[in-house]
Amino acid sequence: MDKINKILIGTHNKGKFKEISDLLPKTIEKFSPESFNLDSPVENGKTFKENSEIKANFFCNKTNLITLSDDSGLEIESLNGDPGIHSARWAKKYGSFNKAMDEIINMVKEVKGNIKAQFVCSLTIQWPEGKKISELGVIKGKITSKKGENGFGYDPIFIPEGYTKTFAEMNYKEKLLIDHRYIAYNKLEKKIKTYF
Ligand code: IMP
Repeated sequence: MDKINKILIGTHNKGKFKEISDLLPKTIEKFSPESFNLDSPVENGKTFKENSEIKANFFCNKTNLITLSDDSGLEIESLNGDPGIHSARWAKKYGSFNKAMDEIINMVKEVKGNIKAQFVCSLTIQWPEGKKISELGVIKGKITSKKGENGFGYDPIFIPEGYTKTFAEMNYKEKLLIDHRYIAYNKLEKKIKTYF
């Protein structure tokens, strides 16, 4: 199997791209789908894992580069796991992440006690020869009113377990080293570091 000298990070989301780039070794040259003028595949998987595999397969086939793709989102217990794999689509449906967060706060306002939630991330790496490995990262926490300006997506309404700040109140490094992507990446790294 090829050593990983170059990698395509298969996402158009700038927040995710930066986090994944910063987790990978500095010595690996990183590319984005924009470098190849690529749009995105249809994400018609039923799970985070299936969608990360769809993206890894699509970008890997288009570029012939080893590709690392992420599919992630926020699951809220009292909303039966929504927005879940539709997290990005909810932002489109309501007009922005800001509006989607307002909708969420409105939907869960009857919940007594902690509004349990978790961020989930599936990372899939695929080699042009077809080999692929996926790992899942989950961070549990709760929903709160919007707080903080950092990060991206639903960061302002999520407080991870054991913390008092939202992801958006944390500085970049603080979130980077605890979140669902970090957890998935650490599991994956154990399996791929022989290729670094
Ligand atoms: P997709 O994986 O491209 O379908 O998009 C997942 C969506 O989930 C993103 O657009 C974000 O809104 C949200 N999301 C995933 N990870 C994070 C995170 O670390 N912070 C905030 N929002 C996230």
